[in-house]
Amino acid sequence: MRGNPTRSKRASAPPPVPRRRTVSPSVREEWERLSDEIRSCRKCPLGSVRTNAVVYRGGLAPRIVFVGEAPGAEEDRTGLPFVGRSGRLLDEAVASLGLGADEFGILNVLKCRPPGNRFDRSAARTCRPYLDRQLTLLRPAAIVTLGARALAAIDPTAPPMLSSAGRPRALGDLPFFPLVHPAAALRSRRMRTRWERDVRALGRWLARGPA
Ligand code: URA
Repeated sequence: MRGNPTRSKRASAPPPVPRRRTVSPSVREEWERLSDEIRSCRKCPLGSVRTNAVVYRGGLAPRIVFVGEAPGAEEDRTGLPFVGRSGRLLDEAVASLGLGADEFGILNVLKCRPPGNRFDRSAARTCRPYLDRQLTLLRPAAIVTLGARALAAIDPTAPPMLSSAGRPRALGDLPFFPLVHPAAALRSRRMRTRWERDVRALGRWLARGPA
């Protein structure tokens, strides 16, 4: 992954030129190898309680990668990220941003569902190299973090979630934009309003980047 988490700073600059990229056969092969590795991973205890590891959904040359926290029940069942209620809200947001199917991707910090949906920090440390390798291969122009755990994983120095959400930041030369988790937006009216406001801000930020 690009950048040094300890040198993160606020960034008002929009993402760099989002040119359509082609995916080379070697990147495609490496992606398949990595995905197989994740699907068969047993490096932490979550590997023995999951139904499916959850790798990714989206294009292999995305402009934006959304980073969630951990798979839930539906994701564990299907092997795809954000396919439950939170996923429907996220998909609505993505549609409102006008991103085409191959222009975005969705993945999680944790690749396996933690029991009781309790985020497992030790598992997240073990899983971390997978996230870094995925981002290195995908080379997104920008990242959008979903929720406090994803924000902390991408930028441990970021202010708390509610101060960070809706304001662009950068990790080295990789711009990113924190949002509250869509599950939080489904739980309270106040967070739903915040979610909608911040998604509009994300749209303006993306629009400022050359299309
Ligand atoms: N919440 C997440 O953070 N990730 C998912 O894939 C689903 C719900």
